[in-house]
Amino acid sequence: MTASAPILVTGATGFIASRIVEQLLAAGYWVRGTVRSLKKPGDVNRLRALPFAAEHLELVEADLTRAGSFDAPALGCEAVMHTASPYALTVNDPQTDLVNPAVNGTRAVLGACAKTPSVRRVVLTSSMAAVTDEPDSRYTLTEADWNTKSSLSRNPYYYSKTMAERAAWTFVGEKKPQFDLIAINPFMVIGPSLTAGLNTSNQVLVDIVRGTYPGIISLTWGFVDVRDVAEAHIQAMERPAAHGRYLCAGDTFTMRDIVQLLAEKGYQGLPRMPLDSPLASAIVRLAAFAESKGVRSYLRTHVGRVPRYDTSKIRRELGIEFRPVKDTILETMEDLKRWGHLPSR
Ligand code: NDP
Repeated sequence: MTASAPILVTGATGFIASRIVEQLLAAGYWVRGTVRSLKKPGDVNRLRALPFAAEHLELVEADLTRAGSFDAPALGCEAVMHTASPYALTVNDPQTDLVNPAVNGTRAVLGACAKTPSVRRVVLTSSMAAVTDEPDSRYTLTEADWNTKSSLSRNPYYYSKTMAERAAWTFVGEKKPQFDLIAINPFMVIGPSLTAGLNTSNQVLVDIVRGTYPGIISLTWGFVDVRDVAEAHIQAMERPAAHGRYLCAGDTFTMRDIVQLLAEKGYQGLPRMPLDSPLASAIVRLAAFAESKGVRSYLRTHVGRVPRYDTSKIRRELGIEFRPVKDTILETMEDLKRWGHLPSR
């Protein structure tokens, strides 16, 4: 990689993308970031205030739902990090709100790259959602696994990510463009945020201390620090031998582990009622029918299930050493207070 042609980052004000932008700038790259609107001054100005941004960051507007929107932004870029995609569990219309922007937007970005001979690699922010929506402790997931169960009515966000990643591999297989494609598949991304919004994944920690959960539910997540996810994107872009998909997650942590950790640190308002026995999990899955459609299908497919996954590929080929989950959770809690998402005791 030379540092002379820009690296395009789509959705640059996003939680993950802004960390990618920060790390690219720190490494000496020129960065062109797309944002939906330059008129959202808060986050745009936060990006512009990053070290080296004044000289090396250009921000332009592009929207996944507007045809041809990424053609001009991709011009002359050497590599593209495609992170922009709607991330929400509950939406009005899964097709319009999730699948169309994710899938058509991915095709549009790749189409724009194919028209620009300078682009030699695209790194796609896919997700563990494209790997499974129903983890099973008896089975260790690898890069060979694909989510075949999600649909517009079952975990539609997962469906949008699966269809978008499939569309990307199909595009490369059929059109044989001059660039190669790499997918990063992170699990639950948490960490300190460079921007003001509360990300859907950091929201889990807010919900735990805000009493959103009726008790300690049998939920287990594979967490990964947002800064490690950003580094994985950059390593994937830089290392010539990088190829294919990369599962991207540190250790698993249960809701009970999180509650215990936060209780030790003096956090108040934590759930107490133990609802993580097999019997209680069956009741939680039934009670999930009272939730919104998106939350309902998430709970019904995840409560009582423990994900197992093999991350040896990303460690070996991209050299990623994941930060300890405990440290990331505690840092995230402090950051959530700083942004006003949690009261500062
Ligand atoms: P954010 O919601 O912070 O970022 C999503 C980005 O996508 C935002 O910049 C948003 O722009 C942009 N976007 C959404 N819709 C459109 C659109 N129609 N046109 C242009 N841009 C759009 O979430 P994350 O940073 O967490 O997510 C980034 C990527 O990582 C997504 O692809 C997500 O699926 C993936 N991912 C996230 C995980 C997590 O736990 N956080 C785990 C695995 C994968 P705007 O700011 O204008 O809304």
